[in-house]
Amino acid sequence: MSYDVEKPDEQWRAELNPAEYAVLRQAATEPAFTGEYTDTKTQGVYSCRACGAELFTSETKFESHCGWPSFYDPKDTDAVELVEDRSHGMVRTEVRCARCGSHLGHVFAGEGYPTPTDQRYCINSISLRLTPQEG
Ligand SMILES: [Zn+2]
Repeated sequence: MSYDVEKPDEQWRAELNPAEYAVLRQAATEPAFTGEYTDTKTQGVYSCRACGAELFTSETKFESHCGWPSFYDPKDTDAVELVEDRSHGMVRTEVRCARCGSHLGHVFAGEGYPTPTDQRYCINSISLRLTPQEG
C-alpha cells in the first residue's frame, strides 16, 4: 500500500521526537495511563501527530479505563487503515493513519462496552494531537 504522505525514514526521525518516532513509525506502545489524552474530555478533533490528518473526535471518545485514549469510531471510516497484526503471539488489528501509514494503536471488538459500535479503538496519545473546539 502506498500513502499520500510518504517520507524517508531519516526525515520522520528528524521531524518526530524519539518517543513519537518509536510509536508512530516503529509501532511501539506508550505505557498505560501515561499518555496526555487518556482522560481528556476536551471537545475537539484528534489529528495524526505525524501528518496532521483528522482521525478521531471527542464525540466518540469514551472511558474504557484501559489506560489509553479510546474511541468507538474514527472520524471517517477511510481516515484509518486496519491491518492484521500477528506480533507478540496475538492476532490483533492494528490501526494506522490512512494518509501516512503511521501506527496509531489497535482496535478491539466485542468487549461489551456500552457504545454504539462495540468497538474500542485503543490509540496511543502520542500518536495524536488534540485541537480543541473553538468557542
Ligand atoms: Zn498520518
